[in-house]
Amino acid sequence: MSQLKTFRPEPGALPSRDTVPSGYTWDLTAICQDWDEWTGCLKSLEAAIESFTTLKGTLSRGPDGLLAAFRALDAMGATSYRVWYYASLQYDQDQRDNAANAKRQQVQILFARQQQAGSWFNPEVLAIPVETIRGWLEASADLAVYRFAIESLFHEQEHVLDEQGERLMALAGRFNSVPHDSYAALTTADMRAPSITLSGGERVTLSYGQYRALLETNRRQEDRAAAYRAFHLSYADQQNTYAALYNGVLQRGWFHARARGYAATLDAELHGNSIPTTVVETLIAATKDGVEPLRRYHRLRRRVLGVESYRLFDLFVPLVEHDVRYPYDEVGEWIVESVAPLGQAYQAQVRRAFRERWIDVYENVGKRSGAYSAPVYGAHPYMLLNYNETLDAVFTLAHEMGHSMHTLLSHQAQPFVYAGYTIFVAEVPSTLNEALFLDLMLDRARSRDERVVLLQHAIDSIASTFYAQVLFADFELQAHRLVEQDRPVTAEVLNSLYAGLLREYYGDVLDDEELSRVTWARISHLFGSPYYVYQYATCFASAACLMQDLRSQTPAVKADAVDRYLSLLRAGGSDYPMTLLARAGIDLSRPETVRAVSAELGMLVGRLEAELEGR
Ligand SMILES: [Zn+2]
Repeated sequence: MSQLKTFRPEPGALPSRDTVPSGYTWDLTAICQDWDEWTGCLKSLEAAIESFTTLKGTLSRGPDGLLAAFRALDAMGATSYRVWYYASLQYDQDQRDNAANAKRQQVQILFARQQQAGSWFNPEVLAIPVETIRGWLEASADLAVYRFAIESLFHEQEHVLDEQGERLMALAGRFNSVPHDSYAALTTADMRAPSITLSGGERVTLSYGQYRALLETNRRQEDRAAAYRAFHLSYADQQNTYAALYNGVLQRGWFHARARGYAATLDAELHGNSIPTTVVETLIAATKDGVEPLRRYHRLRRRVLGVESYRLFDLFVPLVEHDVRYPYDEVGEWIVESVAPLGQAYQAQVRRAFRERWIDVYENVGKRSGAYSAPVYGAHPYMLLNYNETLDAVFTLAHEMGHSMHTLLSHQAQPFVYAGYTIFVAEVPSTLNEALFLDLMLDRARSRDERVVLLQHAIDSIASTFYAQVLFADFELQAHRLVEQDRPVTAEVLNSLYAGLLREYYGDVLDDEELSRVTWARISHLFGSPYYVYQYATCFASAACLMQDLRSQTPAVKADAVDRYLSLLRAGGSDYPMTLLARAGIDLSRPETVRAVSAELGMLVGRLEAELEGR
């Protein structure tokens, strides 16, 4: 940005934090001025936790008691954000900072105490007859703010057992983490990364990062094949162990569902957010109906790469060699420009993020890796990046900015209790921001190669964030149904389930690759968070659906879409996600919504064909 002195770290160099000009670092004073102020916040939180326990036993007395307790919870929650993020962001900017780490742990300990000290609250609310509370909600406008919070507490209560039942569930809960803990140990601590020799004689050890980099950059198919096979062989060699662990995940899910009186594992998983199971079923069915553009893309890749056989390890290599660097200062201007369709007020907020130093831009010694947007209530969102001028880094910035604007608008519009939003809507703005940014970049691109790189980036992200996730969701739904029907789950059963899905999604565009059958074993989400990945796909579909209207040439359609979208962001967590999305005009139970993704993919593949083959 113009007011900053330009700074670009040398490629490959890792600067120490004090050499990065302050304009490229975040300014945490919006959270606390300094550690003294932070200490004051921490003390006031401690005091609030103490005094909250004095409210125990007062809730049933009437609306005023309940309101006072809710307000006390909100006040504690708001302070919690500040004490946590001030310490945690300080720590992430240089994780060698022991003092910051100690303070961060101090907050974690206090949070554990807070949870314990507040554990009486939900049961005490639930002990009041719901009709009584509904009467209070009618009578008190101040209490009515908490209507959704209260109703969803009672909704969750529907599958809570009696005291004896809950005690047994809690005792059994100690085993819950065993399948995933074992999986994590097997794939990290106990995993020996395989080594291979490349065609040029070079020896490489295939950590996951190395393996991905090789598939994305190595232009020799035999090298990619060797990497793919060595990497998957390490899973195939232990497939019976992985199958036993996965069976543990499935059986646990089925135990919980039955113990709590659900008809199936999927119902149990979706109940909390009140999402109908047809959403997942429709997602899968409509995606299977819309695989043609995906296959068309891979047929194009096979032609362009000129390979005799086209296999899973050929999916990620770039179609053209084109290495562009994107300096941060220029990209900042483009990010602001790309959100122009969302209106001037929105654009002004994005500009603030750059001007007011919400972003920690570059990698430095000790800094946490990756990227995130931190929703700091009471201040504003902060973004951690490790910006390295690649196209991925540019889209990551667009992505995190989407999360940040969601946080900002939601925090501005909602009372504290609804300021946070669920994962089910969280990836809508990040995905939509990326789509807007792609449109701008495609307009700006001056060469064919640059357009090809951009189109491939966008298509690959649909393939990996949408199609691949639906395939995984399909796999886990079918696997759970095996145990629900008392059918055996072995490595062979899981392998053939996966192989069948590959055929259903890719048809004959992919040539057979025996080891691809064990892919399920390396998808950690399946083991760590069952029924999670479908949400990437539903968010993607929601964003694609909104983008169709935002790209409309009819001003009224476009203006209406902007209104609906901004209202969705402002709505935060004020209702169930399906209700919020429905208000934004998105009905995920309809196949048409899901079809917006295959329509978008078809459009992008068409453009890519035109660029590469002049059709
Ligand atoms: Zn995200």
